[in-house]
Amino acid sequence: MTTPARTKSILDNIGNTPLVELTSISQDLPVPIYAKCEHMNPGGSIKDRTAISIIDDAEARGVIKPGDTLVEGTAGNTGMGLALVAAARGYRFVCVMPETMSADKRQALATLGAEIVLSKPGPLSSPNNFRNVAQRLADENGWFLTAQFQNQANPRVHELTTGPEILTQMDNNLAAFVCAAGTGGTITGVARSLKAKLPDVKVILADPVGSGLAGWVRDGAPTPNGPYSAEGIGSSTVPDTLDISIIDDALQIPDEEAIAVTKRLVREEGLVVGGSSGVNVAAAIRLAKSGDFDGPIVTVLPDSLDRYYSAEWLKSW
Ligand code: PMP
Repeated sequence: MTTPARTKSILDNIGNTPLVELTSISQDLPVPIYAKCEHMNPGGSIKDRTAISIIDDAEARGVIKPGDTLVEGTAGNTGMGLALVAAARGYRFVCVMPETMSADKRQALATLGAEIVLSKPGPLSSPNNFRNVAQRLADENGWFLTAQFQNQANPRVHELTTGPEILTQMDNNLAAFVCAAGTGGTITGVARSLKAKLPDVKVILADPVGSGLAGWVRDGAPTPNGPYSAEGIGSSTVPDTLDISIIDDALQIPDEEAIAVTKRLVREEGLVVGGSSGVNVAAAIRLAKSGDFDGPIVTVLPDSLDRYYSAEWLKSW
């Protein structure tokens, strides 16, 4: 066992997360599934990596300095990451989030000192859309828009950290990587890093039924829109931070399947993770069962279940 080194700041402990075999889930499968525990980041999600990467990049370019105001439109996890970085580095942070997001996330953000602006639900074409509200506030007030859906510091951090960590932890031995996309930063960056080292590795998008992204990957047009439970993933349009050309295929996961797998992760593996982890691992199970892969399948567990204790989908457990 390696003990992490003493550090100057909690921010130095973002990344370098554990990767665990899903032993109970894998026992009846022809190949094992491994999951990277991104819920163990200091802010509770994979988006801590994005937050520190965007702020480090903007500081290095001289665009921001402590005391400035940051603004972002986020379903919550990027907000938590940015709130953490803002607290530890001395920024003011304004977080725009759709009013449909869980109350738990809202409360956690406010507790960390973020100022919250709730937006009405609406597609990207609507001025009410949370991303448009954030852009407007940045323009009107001269605040720094962290722009997770456009900022290439987002996929880059996964190319430079998440992907290489997976390669090291797997001893360069994996057949496929599968995960869902919100901004697409994770899948794009990890795919770039894995394919540079292992050209035969397959990268598969896990997409909730109701999101358009699976269709964009497979046919260049969106799959039909609809409601789904998992937060922070799926989209009707392709963000700038998602490079669909690097993705080999897509799987569509219905709610019931994702929720059942989330419950298995918690109850059988002791992994206390949120709904997008269920989508990711449900897709990994399908890939393992397909018989198309003769090596391990790797995925990520993007966030922690404690963000969803008031969510409807959890009430049936
Ligand atoms: N799962 C959850 C819970 C998230 O909040 C996000 C980020 N929106 C993702 C998965 C997807 O990550 P990315 O933005 O890197 O595609």
